Formats: sequence, structure tokens, C-alpha cells
Amino acid sequence: MARILGPKCRLCRRDGDRLFLKGARCHTAKCAISKRGYPPGMHGFRRGRPSEYGIRLREKQKAKRIYGVLERQFRKYFAEANRLRGDTGANLLILLERRLDNAVFQLGFAESRSQARQFVAHGHVTVNGRKLDVSSHLVKVGDVISPKAHKKSESLARERVEGQQGRSVPEWLTLDVKELKGTVTRSPAREDVAIPIQEAYIVEFSSR
Ligand code: SF4
Repeated sequence: MARILGPKCRLCRRDGDRLFLKGARCHTAKCAISKRGYPPGMHGFRRGRPSEYGIRLREKQKAKRIYGVLERQFRKYFAEANRLRGDTGANLLILLERRLDNAVFQLGFAESRSQARQFVAHGHVTVNGRKLDVSSHLVKVGDVISPKAHKKSESLARERVEGQQGRSVPEWLTLDVKELKGTVTRSPAREDVAIPIQEAYIVEFSSR
């Protein structure tokens, strides 16, 4: 399972935005963006204005990093988004939002998308009652997502859901906290994707 490695806060600092890669810590004063909101490296704080190319590149990198997707896979998502009807940028974000690891994160079974990805990869998640360990699986309307019927999987999911009380579940999902069962009630729309991304820049960058 290829994944983005290295210090996560550096990635946020490089992109100049909170990408929420670390779960609870991202909502505290310990967040590196609040303390050192300039790019990493010896000359990070001296960097001037980014170029037009740089602005577009950063938007693409942000989307990749938020969803934990590598370049090759990202290009596949873009090709698919381009093939679909409608706005390519919105299609791209909707495809990324439908990833199983993202749905697991949004339901609160994990504190971050990377933790959700590990939770899925380690076989703790079922979709419609069947174990599924592919984080990139795209969930669809009617799918029921829950932790595996195993003491460890259930207790991990419950602990995280209870630890994040107050965090809302997006409108395209519903969560039965008692049963630890999430349901995809409708396909996500662009408005449901609450991340700091300007997808038009990604389209301009990737269509070159
Ligand atoms: Fe680090 Fe999270 Fe802040 Fe990003 S948002 S800098 S990952 S603490």
C-alpha cells in the first residue's frame, strides 16, 4: 500500500493551509500552521509571492495530501472526473470524497484520513456486511459501513466516535452511534466537500 510518508505538518506548511492530517491535534494550538505558518526549510519564511503555476500546483498537492493519494492514482481520478458529465473539478472532489477511507473518517470511526486508511487496510471495516480492505473503494448510495463484528474493531471504532462527540457527520452519510453503522444516504455533492480547495486551479493545472 503506497502512501504519503514523512512529517505531516511540513506538508501543511508547504501548502500554506491546514490540511487536517493529524486528527485531534489539528484543532489545537499545537498545530504547526498556527505556530509557524510559513513554508518549511531554511529560507521558507523569506519566500516571495508564488507564481501562477505555483498556485495551481499547490492546489493539486493539497487535494492529493488531504485524501492521501499519490500522483499516479490522482491522475486516474482526474481522467475519470474528466470523462464524467458535469464540472470536472467538482467530479474530482466527489470521487475523492467517495473513497472508503474518507467515508470511515467522516463517520468518525477514525480521527484522520490516514488513520481511517490504516483501519480499512487492517481489515477492521465491513461494507454491506462483508470485510473490505481496499481504501480506494468508492462507496455508493445504500452502502452500510461498519466496523467488523470483532471486539477489537468495534471497541476502536466506538472509542473514536465517542472521543469526537460534537463532530458532525456530512449530510450524505448517516450514523447510528449505538449500532456503529454508517449509511450512504445519497451521493456527495460539491457543497458537501468541506475542504479548503479551489478545484478550478487543479483542472487548469492538470489539463495542461
Ligand atoms: Fe499539523 Fe494538523 Fe496543523 Fe496540518 S493541520 S500543521 S497536520 S497539526
